[in-house]
Amino acid sequence: MNRETLEIGGIPVEFRESRRARRLRMEARPGMVRVTVPHGCPPAEVSRFVADHTAWIAEKTRAWRELAPPGEGPVEPSFAAPGHIVFRGRRTPFGTALTDRARARVVWDATAGITVHLPDRWPPEVREPRGHRALAKWYDSLLGGEAARIIEIEGKPRGLVPREVRFSQPRTRWGSCARNGIVRLNRRLVGAPAPVFRYVVLHEIAHLRHPDHSARFWGLVEELDPTWREHRTWLRERGMALG
Ligand SMILES: [Zn+2]
Repeated sequence: MNRETLEIGGIPVEFRESRRARRLRMEARPGMVRVTVPHGCPPAEVSRFVADHTAWIAEKTRAWRELAPPGEGPVEPSFAAPGHIVFRGRRTPFGTALTDRARARVVWDATAGITVHLPDRWPPEVREPRGHRALAKWYDSLLGGEAARIIEIEGKPRGLVPREVRFSQPRTRWGSCARNGIVRLNRRLVGAPAPVFRYVVLHEIAHLRHPDHSARFWGLVEELDPTWREHRTWLRERGMALG
């Protein structure tokens, strides 16, 4: 095995020797796999370890391919030509169609993806801006319904119920919770996998009890979502803060 150039499924495998590590360890992040090798570990053992994890790496890389690359705008698709958007953590076909109805309608289908049906009576120049508005409204209603269910199940029994949940599209924040009990969520979260969205809702309603990032706050988050660290990493890698 040539350690310098090893790639599995197009993903470079990085080796790091450690004096502190007691055993071989593998960690995976989008686009990178790192193997921690205890000092003095026989090369044959390292090779066997990597070989044993080939299927695991393949599974990880398959999952990454379906994730949004950082910075890709999931909520502002092009109306000019059919393409793809990132919807709920997956690359999803996006297109438009004309309808003889009076109002725009968004249709989601597991195979065909998302289609915005635009009234043919609308002048061509207003179709795109109005289509964007219809899509934003549809995203808000989808995410709003889901947030309400999460709050009903996890929040209500603990007395964590926001006064209102609002959606907007700020550039720098995924979510926030104001002192007056209003939770704001970023519409771009429609591009995140459902468990990540769930974490953001739980994080914000935890602020209704602890309006800070104290140890007690994180203790409550842990109780609400034991896998919160993974979800926080996902959000951080996409460059926006969580209030
Ligand atoms: Zn916070």
